[in-house]
Amino acid sequence: MKILVLNSGSSSLKYQVIDMSNEKTVAEGICERIGTADSEMTYKAHGNKTKVEHGMPTHKEAIDLVLKTLQGENGVIKSIEEIDAVGHRVLHGAETFKDSVLITEEVLAKLEENVPLGPLHMPANIMGIKNCMELMPGKPNVAVFDTAFHQTLPNYAYMYPLPYQDYEELRVRKYGFHGTSHKYVSQRATEILGTKESKVIICHLGNGSSISAVKNGECIDTSMGLTPLEGLMMGTRCGNIDPAAVLYVMEKRNMSINEMDTYMNKKSGILGIYEKNSDFRNVRDDYLNGDERATLTFNMLTYRIKQYIGSYAATLGGVDAICFTGGIGENSGVTREKICEGLEFLGVEIDKEFNSRIETERLDGELLISKGKVKVYRINTNEELVIAEDTYRITKN
Ligand code: ADP
Repeated sequence: MKILVLNSGSSSLKYQVIDMSNEKTVAEGICERIGTADSEMTYKAHGNKTKVEHGMPTHKEAIDLVLKTLQGENGVIKSIEEIDAVGHRVLHGAETFKDSVLITEEVLAKLEENVPLGPLHMPANIMGIKNCMELMPGKPNVAVFDTAFHQTLPNYAYMYPLPYQDYEELRVRKYGFHGTSHKYVSQRATEILGTKESKVIICHLGNGSSISAVKNGECIDTSMGLTPLEGLMMGTRCGNIDPAAVLYVMEKRNMSINEMDTYMNKKSGILGIYEKNSDFRNVRDDYLNGDERATLTFNMLTYRIKQYIGSYAATLGGVDAICFTGGIGENSGVTREKICEGLEFLGVEIDKEFNSRIETERLDGELLISKGKVKVYRINTNEELVIAEDTYRITKN
């Protein structure tokens, strides 16, 4: 059984074909700058990576090009019939979708209701689904939500202390995101630990970052909120700040709601403090060379992550394992070390020598980097596999 996994962004389309007989990716790539004159697609299969320059005015042409390429010269299928189902990454399931779901007209209508909760991503997600329905009539499509894994949060964790009617009428609450990554990594951790009865903290640290507390396989708290803006300091997002600072800056700088949205989502975080760019590799290099602003950025970022770990240890009533994943979590030893520094009182003791060797020797895979009571792992996330697995589970019958 082969599953096509699609992640439709506002101007991009990421895709993978996963063979469920061995859970291996047989083809993958990305269509970028859709809707512009220089749209292009990268395609990787059979160990070859190619670039296809092609007009892609909309996502429909992009999906059509993906399907044609999959059947072409360096293809992985002879006909569309070999694709058994399509799994779509969908940003927001709100409280409507607590699990992945087979897409029907009724489900599509409910997804439309969630557009106001994810105005940047949801229209592209829905468009991707509709295009697949048109281009591959009769093929089952499954929606896999970034929010679903966090639907197990207790109400006192997901409610904001705002007037209750805004929860009832506007659906304002914490939802959490990166759910497929937190699900995958926590499942891997419980498998490695050999028991589901565990208290695990997952640190997904990339351009977007979030942390979750997972008890006995269920998520009980997570750092992102109504939107992915809450929580940690990220590439260009500010994360938690005093909400009154927003009003103060808006008034002083005479900013509109849209301008403030851009300020908090695109101009803050690493970019806001470091100022050169939002690439954490540069921050890391400059920090190691003693640059003052990079040091501030590095210290702010790692301090906030450490605080969340302490807070989630309290939420969980202890901690058995801490897992690092995402571009920064998987690749930056110095960051993992700094985050764990001072957490010895919890039983966290990093194997510093091995932790730094991972980067210098480019070690890969799931690695134990601690020698204390609390296990600390570096685990590669695999969101596409979770989407494919859910799609397989829901469509196999
Ligand atoms: P996204 O959230 O877009 O999926 P990723 O998970 O790919 O992002 O993470 C991208 C981030 O990881 C970037 O800030 C990048 O600089 C950082 N990163 C990747 N490798 C390293 C490394 N070796 N050291 C420090 N940061 C790294």
